Amino acid sequence: MSARVEKSLGELGRSLSGSVVGPADADYDAARRCFNALVDRRPAVIVRCAETDDVATAFDFARTHELEIAVRGGGHNPAGHCVLDDGLVIDLSAMRTVDVDPDARIARADGGSTWLEFDAATQAFGLVTPGGIVGSTGVCGLALGGGIGHLTAQHGLTCDNLVGAEIVTPNGAVIRATQDENAELLWGLRGGGGNFGVATRLEFQLHTLDRVVGGVLAYRGRGVREALRLFRDVASGSPRDLSCQASLSVDESLVPTLGILPCFTAPDTDPEALRALRAASGLVADGLRAHSFLDQQRVEDSPYGENRHYWKGHFVRDLPDELIDELLARIVAFGRPPVHVLIESLHGAPKDADQALGGIAYRQAAFNVSAMAVWRDPSVDEEHIQWARDTAAALERWSFSGGGYANYMQADEPMERVRAAFGDHAFERLQALKTQYDPTNVLRRNQNIPPF
Ligand SMILES: Cc1cc2nc3c(=O)[nH]c(=O)nc-3n(C[C@H](O)[C@H](O)[C@H](O)COP(=O)(O)OP(=O)(O)OC[C@H]3O[C@@H](n4cnc5c(N)ncnc54)[C@H](O)[C@@H]3O)c2cc1C
Repeated sequence: MSARVEKSLGELGRSLSGSVVGPADADYDAARRCFNALVDRRPAVIVRCAETDDVATAFDFARTHELEIAVRGGGHNPAGHCVLDDGLVIDLSAMRTVDVDPDARIARADGGSTWLEFDAATQAFGLVTPGGIVGSTGVCGLALGGGIGHLTAQHGLTCDNLVGAEIVTPNGAVIRATQDENAELLWGLRGGGGNFGVATRLEFQLHTLDRVVGGVLAYRGRGVREALRLFRDVASGSPRDLSCQASLSVDESLVPTLGILPCFTAPDTDPEALRALRAASGLVADGLRAHSFLDQQRVEDSPYGENRHYWKGHFVRDLPDELIDELLARIVAFGRPPVHVLIESLHGAPKDADQALGGIAYRQAAFNVSAMAVWRDPSVDEEHIQWARDTAAALERWSFSGGGYANYMQADEPMERVRAAFGDHAFERLQALKTQYDPTNVLRRNQNIPPF
């Protein structure tokens, strides 16, 4: 860090409601840590914003001192876009309030809130919006990049439920976006990521939900192939009240394992679709039960900042038997756990949503299939990364459009994969918005949409 920046940190701290964390501070290492342990970067300064004005102050300081900027919500993005070497981090993790208006069925989530806070606040009124399946993920990061989870079939992508936003643009302006005010910006925020400004608040429409039938069905061995085919048929043929994901892996003996995560929301507690999955051969543990939505959100978790991650995948048109065979072969080929393949169904509400809501084109795909390498030992980085790349390459011939899922992308993805997730026309519309709100691409540590 330059002496000039260092000297100015005290003054910056005094001009904020929040605080400044620098390399000499005791909490610096905790503050720069992100979910993916593969990412280890040392920013010059972390600005812990406590209110909207702090974000504008941070932009101003970065401009004056010519520091590059990263924006941190929940810190989950596998690309590690929330932290950078030698630059300034706009850290929103102290802004986590979620207000619920039960009469209007609207939740207002601050820029650094996580799904833990969001679901707890909305479920207090028996309300939900579709979010992510791991509680510590940031609400804004996930929503701005799309959002696939336990309620996708019922209520669409998370960004389909975004109805309002307050953002701070790199020139310090505070802008509101709703259907009546800056509607084009709202359209862009539904999938366009953190390209246009820092969201200090996002507003979501809510839906009533109390109990669900969910949990995990675990399969092992020869039956896994059949169970995966059944998962495909159930997911693609099921009504909007069943969301479904599957996670394929192997155990220490290289035997395939499969976890299916249904989330069924109709009153029937023993629906036909789930009976079929429960009856499949290869089932070794039946963890399905009727429980609260908060319990459903606790079914999956992943430790923060401990594992190294490299993810790569494709939206696919279908999940034919040949693709299932390919995935099984790829998972065994690696030779040991815990690599896995996540398969998320996009049936139901994403397809029915008004296409004019946002620019995302992949809602028309059948599934999102992601090779996820997860490991601890830095000496085996290369082989894990290569496995994920090779597996994604093997899926390519089933790809829906060649586009990837922005929320799971690493930093090395080419711009064409971001572009293909929207299609040429929508991408150019997003570029026009970028040119309007961030013409010099200050916000480029993201799945970038460059200005014209
Ligand atoms: C364990 C795990 C589980 C996940 N589960 C799901 C899932 O179920 N469904 C799903 O769709 N995705 C899921 N994801 C992916 C997740 O949605 C993305 O990684 C998302 O970017 C995380 O947002 P964040 O705020 O936590 O991350 P961060 O790393 O803090 O932020 C990522 C980027 O998002 C942008 N951003 C974040 N907050 C703001 C803001 N307030 N204003 C402007 N830009 C902002 C910035 O560009 C930032 O660089 C998961 C990721 C992990 C690691």
